[in-house]
Amino acid sequence: MDQPIVVKVGTGVLTRAQDATLDGAALLRLVNAIAQTVGDFGKCVLVSSGAVGAGVTAFGLNEYPKDLATKQAVSAVGQTRLMHAYENLFGHFRMNVAQLLRTADDFRDPERRDNTKATLSRLLNEPAVVPIVNQNDTVAFRDYCVGDNDMLAVRVAELIGAKMLVIFSSIDGLYAPGDIGGEIIREVDDIDEVMNFAEKKTGKMSQGGMQAKLKAVRRAVNGGIETCIANGREPERLQDIVAGDGYCTRFRAQKQPA
Ligand code: GLU
Repeated sequence: MDQPIVVKVGTGVLTRAQDATLDGAALLRLVNAIAQTVGDFGKCVLVSSGAVGAGVTAFGLNEYPKDLATKQAVSAVGQTRLMHAYENLFGHFRMNVAQLLRTADDFRDPERRDNTKATLSRLLNEPAVVPIVNQNDTVAFRDYCVGDNDMLAVRVAELIGAKMLVIFSSIDGLYAPGDIGGEIIREVDDIDEVMNFAEKKTGKMSQGGMQAKLKAVRRAVNGGIETCIANGREPERLQDIVAGDGYCTRFRAQKQPA
C-alpha cells in the first residue's frame, strides 16, 4: 500500500474572520486541492478543525466559547455543518467522505487504537473515500483530550504510518523571530533549533497557535514523519508540497519511521 499523507486544516482557514461562518470559497479550494492530490498521489486523511467555529452562530456568538459546556454543545452543531459542507463539495469530484471523531482513549487503549487503525486502513483502500477526522469535542476534555488538532493529526499520522503530514494554517510557514511578514524559513533540519521561534499566540477562532504546532511537529519528525507547515488559504500549493517542493516550511524527519 502506498503510504498515505495526512492533511490537517485549522479553523482559521475554514471560517471567515469577520463573522465566524464557514467560508465556502475557502472550503471549495481546499477540497479541490485534496481531490487533485488524491488523484495524483493516492491516499489522504484529512484532519479538520472547524466544528466549534462552524457552530458558534447557532448560539449567537462570534468567537470561540469560553465555557466547556457551550464549547461542547457548539461543536455538536458545527460538526454536522462541517461534514455537510465537505460531503457536498467532495461530491463534485465524485468522492465520498467518512467521519471519524476520536478522543485520547482511542489512541491510548490498545483495542480502541487497533480498531481505529483497522477502520482507517479499510477506508483508505477505497479510492473514492476521504476519511475526515476531528476530536470528539462533545466529550473530549482533560484526560480525554488528545490536545489540539495539530497533535491529533500527528497521532493519526503515526497510526497509519503516514509518509507526510501537512499542517495548513493561516500563514505561509514558520518565520524567524522578529521577521513575521518577511520570508519564511523554507527548511528545518533540526526541530530543536527552532522550538523557541513561536510566540504563544492564537487567533480568536483558533486553538493551537505556532507553539502548539511546533510541539506537534517535533513529535512527528522525531517519529520519522516529514512535516510541512503551509498556508491553507493557498491550498493549491498542496500538490507541489507533497511532491517535495512547494511554498511552505518543511521539517525533515529526524529518523526513519519505527
Ligand atoms: N476540535 C476543534 C474544532 O473542531 C478544534 C481543535 C483545534 O483546532 O485544535 O473546532
